[in-house]
Amino acid sequence: MAEMLPKGCGYMGHDFGAPYLDSECFGGQLYDLDDGENGLINEPEEYIPCPACNVVEAVKRLTMHYYHSGEDRPWHLAVARINVVRRSHGLQEYVPGHNR
Ligand SMILES: [Zn+2]
Repeated sequence: MAEMLPKGCGYMGHDFGAPYLDSECFGGQLYDLDDGENGLINEPEEYIPCPACNVVEAVKRLTMHYYHSGEDRPWHLAVARINVVRRSHGLQEYVPGHNR
């Protein structure tokens, strides 16, 4: 049950593609709120670090994603994308090497 999951930072987002809030942070990892039943949320198949409280890992994961998509500047794209999410949540922009 949700209360047995590790505590998160309170981040909720649209990280699984739904127009409503479909992701929530538990212990620095995002869980898909639609993936489960009877109030249980399944352990995600994919490790998705939270862009709010686990930003370094989140940038790493996204960099690999863009890299495998053949993008020229995967790391820059990843930082930019994470910061769009962070700004939309009223969070401080991630400046690599500064706010961690
Ligand atoms: Zn978090």
